[in-house]
Amino acid sequence: MSTPVRTRFAPSPTGFLHIGGARTALFCWAYARKHGGQFILRIEDTDVERSTQAAIEAILDGMSWLGLNWDEGPFYQMQRLARYREISERLLRDGHAYWCYASKEELDAMREAQRRHGEKPRYDGRWRPERAAGMTPPAGVPPVLRFRNPDEGTVAWHDLVKGRIEIDNRELDDLVLLRADGVPTYNFGVVVDDLDMCITHVIRGDDHVNNTPRQINILRALGAPLPQYAHLSMILGDDGQKLSKRHGAVSVMQYDEDGFLPEAVVNYLARLGWSHGDDEVFSVVQLCEWFDLDHITPSAAQFNTEKLLWLNQHYIKAADDARLAAEAKRRLDARGVSTADGPKLETVVALYKERVTTLNELADAAEIFYVDVTPAPELLAQHLNDAARKALARLSVLFETVAWERAALSAAIKEVLTQQQLKMPQVAIPLRVVLTGQTQTPSIDLVLEAMGRELVQRRLARHR
Ligand code: GLU
Repeated sequence: MSTPVRTRFAPSPTGFLHIGGARTALFCWAYARKHGGQFILRIEDTDVERSTQAAIEAILDGMSWLGLNWDEGPFYQMQRLARYREISERLLRDGHAYWCYASKEELDAMREAQRRHGEKPRYDGRWRPERAAGMTPPAGVPPVLRFRNPDEGTVAWHDLVKGRIEIDNRELDDLVLLRADGVPTYNFGVVVDDLDMCITHVIRGDDHVNNTPRQINILRALGAPLPQYAHLSMILGDDGQKLSKRHGAVSVMQYDEDGFLPEAVVNYLARLGWSHGDDEVFSVVQLCEWFDLDHITPSAAQFNTEKLLWLNQHYIKAADDARLAAEAKRRLDARGVSTADGPKLETVVALYKERVTTLNELADAAEIFYVDVTPAPELLAQHLNDAARKALARLSVLFETVAWERAALSAAIKEVLTQQQLKMPQVAIPLRVVLTGQTQTPSIDLVLEAMGRELVQRRLARHR
C-alpha cells in the first residue's frame, strides 16, 4: 500500500488570505481529498513583528468560508520552539550545523566587499568549525546557528509542476537555522514541520522554488525522506500584471463582501492554473474526484473577473431560495433594512435570482420591497401620463377584491387594457415605475404577487 497523502497549507499570518494563498490552500486540500489523505493547516508565525492575531483569524475565516476544512491543526510554529531546538542540536552534534558569531556590521561589511569585487553576496563560512578553530567567540554577540551546506554537488528534484530542477550547491550558502533568540528561520521551521507532520506533497507558490534546494539539503542532513514538490505558478491580474493590492479585491473575504458565493470562487480558483478537459463549471465534489497535479500549467495564470462573475451568476441561479434569502437578509441587515414586514424574502429572491450576477445585486433588487420607493420625477413625467393614471386608478379598485395570485392579477390588468383600449406596456411600465421606481422588472404579475396587496395599494395610492 502506498503512503497516505498528507498535504499542508502553511500561511504566514501577516495579512488576510488573498487569492493566491486561497488557490494554494484549495489545491492542497483538493489533492488530499482526492486521495483520501489528510490536509494539515500550519500557521507560520515566526515573523513575530509582522504576525498578528487578526491575520490568523482572517485566514481561518477565509478557509472556512471557502469550505476548506483541515484534518489536523492549526499548528503554530511559535508553540514548537523546543522541537526546533531539539532538531538543531541533532544537526550540531552530527556536524551539519555550527554556531556563527558574526555581527550584523561584520556581515554587512563582508557583503559590501563581495559586491565591490563583483561577487554574489553570500556568507563566506567564516565560523565553520575548521576555520574558526582557535577563535574565541566575541563577548556579547549571541550566536546564530547555521546549516553547513554541502560544498559540492547538486541538489535536484522532479517538480510535479515544473519538471526537473537542479541547483549547484556552490550557489547556496550556509543559511541560518536558528536566530539568536532561538526562533527558527522560515526554511528550518518548514523542514522540521514537514518532517514531523509526515508531509508527502509540498504544494506551494513558486516564490518558494529557491528555498526548496536548501530545504532538501537540510532534510538530507537529517537522513529524512523527501516529500514531493509541486510549485504553482503565480497569478496575474486582469491586466497581465502581478496580482497585487492594486487589483482591489485581493482578500478572499472581499469576495463575500462583493456578493460572490463561495462555490463560485472555489470553482473559479480551481481553474486558475488547473484544468480538467474543457470543464469550466464543476462542483466541489467533482473537483475532489478529478483534481490531480498532472494538469497544472507551469505558466502563469491570469485572473479574469468576467469569468468569475459568469460563474457567480451560474451558482446564484442554481442556489436554493432559502439560502439566497439568508444571503440577501445578511446584506439588507447590514444596510439597516428590515425585512420583518412586507413580502417573504424567499419569494422576492426567487423573482430576481435569474437576473443578477452578485448577491449584492440581489439585495439591491430585494431592497425595494422593504424600503420606501420614490420613483425619479423624470421617470414619472415620462411614463405616468393621464391615460396611465386612469388605468392605475382602475386597477387599484380591482386590486381591492381580486384574489392575490398571479393569474387573477394578470386578468385584472387585461381587463383594464381592454376597457381603456391600451396596450400592455402602457400600463405595465407606469405600474413598474410606481411600484419599484424602475422601468424593467421581472414579469409584472409576479412582482405584484410577491409585493402583496397592501404594499401595492399603498404605492399606487401615492400617485393618484
Ligand atoms: N509560510 C510560507 C508563505 O506564507 C509558505 C511556506 C511553504 O508553503 O513552504 O509563503
